[in-house]
Amino acid sequence: MKMLQNLAGEFRKLESYDFRVLHGVETGMRFFDWVPVDELPSYCRLTKEEVNYRVGRLLRFKLVRRRTTHYVGYKLTVAGLDALAIRTLVKREAIEAIGSEIGVGKESDVYDAKRDKGITVVVKFHREGTTFRHVKRARGYSAHAKRYSWNLAAKLAAAREYQALEKLYSVVAVPKPIAQDRHVVVMGLIEGKELSRINLTDPLEVLQKIIAQIKLAYSRKVIHGDLSEYNVLVCSDGQIAIIDWPQWVPLSHPNSNELLRRDVSNVLSYFARKYKITKRTEDIMSYIDQDNHEPPQ
Ligand code: ADP
Ligand code: MN
Repeated sequence: MKMLQNLAGEFRKLESYDFRVLHGVETGMRFFDWVPVDELPSYCRLTKEEVNYRVGRLLRFKLVRRRTTHYVGYKLTVAGLDALAIRTLVKREAIEAIGSEIGVGKESDVYDAKRDKGITVVVKFHREGTTFRHVKRARGYSAHAKRYSWNLAAKLAAAREYQALEKLYSVVAVPKPIAQDRHVVVMGLIEGKELSRINLTDPLEVLQKIIAQIKLAYSRKVIHGDLSEYNVLVCSDGQIAIIDWPQWVPLSHPNSNELLRRDVSNVLSYFARKYKITKRTEDIMSYIDQDNHEPPQ
């Protein structure tokens, strides 16, 4: 997170040849764990001298790492990959500039950013695969997959999350999908607070709104899969939105029913614990699965 804050400041200092070399390192990482410095001139279409000068700068900005055992090689850091994604998103006019951190999740860093006309949007940097938990999980992978795992998992998660927002946005209260590149998703800002951090004056009404949104997503054959009081934002006008969709599954998924039950029961147990509202998971499940518009009592 620190990393990125620095980046926001340093970003303006980066020149187009810096990006060309950064991109060259990214290209090389398809073939090498550590990209040999000798390969860079051809990936970047720059002279050896220019490449040497540029990698020196990238090293100082901590956008690449260098290894000198066996041969001199470079690889991207997380900040380097962030820089490439930001650059692409700026070029595509999805954002104009990164702002400040608004949330740190389990597996992401979330920033606000300016879009044209001063509109504030959210930029979510996926970090799946960079934690120890995932390294462990990746142990069974081939050497090839292992080499990529730190950014491949994050890229897949970003693509998946963006896909869910696109499927749902017209019917379900989710952030508006704006753009996606590499491990980054740009989406609309929800001006609300996490359900876990507020005291509701009308908890029953909010619970009913959440259930209604789960049902709407279900009508689009989408199950969240990681629903909890941390992934529901409540706005001051009482509207809610459901965020954090990278692990969604389609209704056709063999575990979809189990995942839906877990989503529902996470939400119900939070309301039971905090607000003493008791509803049975099975009743809500059958309400969600029916074309019945009356919520159960
Ligand atoms: P994680 O998988 O890391 O939990 P989230 O998508 O839940 O990722 O984002 C982390 C935090 O960032 C959220 O709890 C929330 O506070 C904030 N956040 C994420 N997306 C938005 C958004 N579209 N609008 C406002 N805040 C957001
Ligand atoms: Mn979350």
